[in-house]
Amino acid sequence: MGAEGAGKVYLVGAGPGAAGLLTVRARRLLAKADAVVYDRLLSPRLLAWTRSDCRCIYVGKRASLHTLPQADIQRLLIGLAKAGATVVRLKGGDPFVFGRGGEEALALSAAGIDWELVPGVTSAVSVPAYAGIPVTHRRVSAGFTVETGHRGNPAEGNTCAAPDSASPSPLDHTRVVLMGVGHLPQLVENWLGAGWPAHTRVAVVGWGTRAQQRVVDGTLVDIVDKVRVARVGAPAVIVVGDTVGLRSQLAWAERLPLFGRRLLVMAETRELATDRADELEDLGAEVYEVSLEHVSSQRLPANGCCGDVSSGREVESAGPPAGAFVDGSAQGEAAVHGVWEALRRETAEYPLDAVWVESTRCLCALQAMGIPVAGVPVLWMRPATGDDETSGPVQPVLADAQKVAQFLAYSGQPTGAAR
Ligand code: SAH
Repeated sequence: MGAEGAGKVYLVGAGPGAAGLLTVRARRLLAKADAVVYDRLLSPRLLAWTRSDCRCIYVGKRASLHTLPQADIQRLLIGLAKAGATVVRLKGGDPFVFGRGGEEALALSAAGIDWELVPGVTSAVSVPAYAGIPVTHRRVSAGFTVETGHRGNPAEGNTCAAPDSASPSPLDHTRVVLMGVGHLPQLVENWLGAGWPAHTRVAVVGWGTRAQQRVVDGTLVDIVDKVRVARVGAPAVIVVGDTVGLRSQLAWAERLPLFGRRLLVMAETRELATDRADELEDLGAEVYEVSLEHVSSQRLPANGCCGDVSSGREVESAGPPAGAFVDGSAQGEAAVHGVWEALRRETAEYPLDAVWVESTRCLCALQAMGIPVAGVPVLWMRPATGDDETSGPVQPVLADAQKVAQFLAYSGQPTGAAR
């Protein structure tokens, strides 16, 4: 792992979720990292941009709904760097905006580890933006504040941030609240108690920039009921102020043809997978990409195929158990690219709307790697050739992303937003 001597940790902002909101510098660092330590909220697409031998270590919420304790994450980063690794610590949004990035940086400094920070696109601004809500607007809002809706230790019952009477009123100033949706009723009560007018506009944006983005808007009077009915939970950004009213004219992301769709692109080469995924992302879809370059040759089925493609039968259950890398003892398993674990976790929770594959070999590899593609429409990038025949149902050959969009539009499948 890495060069001789001490390694280095890059605390990197991953943006709010949509893969395209990663910075150019972050992408370059991902491509050279020996190890990536990541949590929930991030698109698995980001991991496809790591090296084939990069260790991808998940420290986010598991089935038990617990995250790895902060002290353990810090120990992990220090341990990897001391072993000489170039480590990317990918953090949602911007690392220094409620991301505990400051704590991690302090711990690294205290341990004498070399580190750098790469700022990211924070959810505080980008999530409202994807809902069509500008955080400032001439004559409507002269500024904005970002605050937490969650303060103190829950064990002490002090979990809801109280409005500071000296802070700006939402009448000419936008208030953005992170980590607050769980306390929305209490927050609204506090705001009304602080004298904010009942007609003050409020929006709650859940999973902004991702396929499962949901937006609820209303006023201080009705937002709690509306959010309960729409069942929008964390992660969500709360926006309070009159710029929320601009959403009726500015909700641009929801109008994109593939908004709310979740698609997986699988090609023979990384380059083609990236290009095709970019095209679909430009149409508003959430896209994951993988390629045969992410599959080690031992895991590819012999003779290029795995049997009955149409039934979606799994050929081999693949990959290490979730979290196998966390204890640092499973380096021998690194032949399995980390993108697969992230993809399996994501697709188990949020099913794919379609897969777009270059060849039968690609589809078989998806099955071999344990991606649940049974019942998912398969779209082909090119016609089957004699030595690459598909035994699956005949599907249109879709040469470009626009055709994929048309196919999905006419296939009658609900979009992510309508599910
Ligand atoms: N460092 C992050 C914030 C971490 S705190 C940043 O700069 O964005 C985690 C909170 O961020 C969540 O509880 C939620 O309020 C907000 N958040 C992050 N990503 C989000 C997303 N995609 N959609 C909605 N809220 C998000």
